[in-house]
Amino acid sequence: MDQANILIIGGGVVGCAIARAVSEHWQDVFLVEQFPKLGMATSTRNSGVNHSGIYYPKNSLKARHCVEGNRLTYEFCIKHNVPFRHKGKLVVAANAHEETELVALKKRGEDNGVEGLRLIDAAEIRKQEPHIRGTAALVVPSTGIVSAEELVHAYARVASNQGANIVTRAEVVSLAPSGKNIRVGLRIGDQRDSQEETIEAKCVINAAGLHADEVAALLGNRSWHIYPVRGEYCEIRGPRASLINNLVYPLPHSRGLSLGVHFTKTLWATVLVGPTATYVEGKDNYEKDRLAIADFANSAKTLLPEIRESDLQLGYSGLRPKLVPPDHQGIVDFVITRDPAVPQAIHLVGMESPGLTAAPSVGQHVRQLVAEVLG
Ligand SMILES: Cc1cc2nc3c(=O)[nH]c(=O)nc-3n(C[C@H](O)[C@H](O)[C@H](O)COP(=O)(O)OP(=O)(O)OC[C@H]3O[C@@H](n4cnc5c(N)ncnc54)[C@H](O)[C@@H]3O)c2cc1C
Repeated sequence: MDQANILIIGGGVVGCAIARAVSEHWQDVFLVEQFPKLGMATSTRNSGVNHSGIYYPKNSLKARHCVEGNRLTYEFCIKHNVPFRHKGKLVVAANAHEETELVALKKRGEDNGVEGLRLIDAAEIRKQEPHIRGTAALVVPSTGIVSAEELVHAYARVASNQGANIVTRAEVVSLAPSGKNIRVGLRIGDQRDSQEETIEAKCVINAAGLHADEVAALLGNRSWHIYPVRGEYCEIRGPRASLINNLVYPLPHSRGLSLGVHFTKTLWATVLVGPTATYVEGKDNYEKDRLAIADFANSAKTLLPEIRESDLQLGYSGLRPKLVPPDHQGIVDFVITRDPAVPQAIHLVGMESPGLTAAPSVGQHVRQLVAEVLG
């Protein structure tokens, strides 16, 4: 049986950033991912935005890791040649009522330590984004976009260069405490040709994204239930993509469900319109009953009146691992914790937005928890 110091379950951005952080300090690190490639779930089905940290309650893990993760992500991208663009974003108030919310958002951002926030008027909006209609906007200079796929692979590459073993097509099917260790049962290969293997690990890290609740339950911990909330995108390609220059957001969803349908000028010069937010059945339900293009055009018209349905084509979708049921209000924080009954296990649950941004800071946080486990 293979022995590991640390075994990470899940090869999304969070698992890969953790692998990078812990393999700096410890040998015999394994990362196991059930799919054939890393980052095939939520980590590459998002807006790719390096968020600033303006939205989250003061002192929350989301606020802390987003602000720090934003800085660390840019540093990492520069050092490891991951494509990114750092040009800030606008959060636009569509009317006078929303301007009050914009002021509150600025205050929350400042409380979280986000620097350089400033309010601009309609004329200044027009200078930056001539096609956007709004009465005022918040300029957020630290926001940018990254290539999410290349970021995931770069974290994994650095981890691997530091000695971590990254194994794909390896699904964790059982977890059993064994003395001070945990026995991890793996199904390696695909459906038609698979074999069972066991690794005994001193510390197990559950970074299984949408399935983190089920992985925790393998250890008998049923504290969490993850609800998949689908975010769908449309895309503007070709000359009409010039309607948007950079990143333009409305005020966030009033129930804390999402940041609202926004416009993201991608690194490849198209514009993403979305994501929407709908609770769905099934953690692989990306396509069933997709919204119509007309729905995107209608919600986009508030800020971009010139948009036409014919400008849009359906894009991809992603699933948020929400910890709150459909009737809940407000923002719920990331869960990053050692298991109370099996403390050599660390769970990361509810790693929704801003998880892509927060990942390198979360990696440092988890490294401290691993140090407690391994001594
Ligand atoms: C529509 C949308 C837009 C978003 N936009 C942004 C954004 O602009 N900026 C931002 O910062 N964040 C954004 N996010 C959030 C961000 O994408 C996530 O927080 C982040 O990708 C979570 O990463 P993860 O590694 O936890 O999860 P995942 O990427 O889902 O990775 C978990 C991995 O675990 C694997 N796994 C699960 N169970 C097992 C098992 N039993 N054995 C082995 N492997 C297993 C899965 O296959 C998966 O690859 C967005 C999310 C969505 C859905």
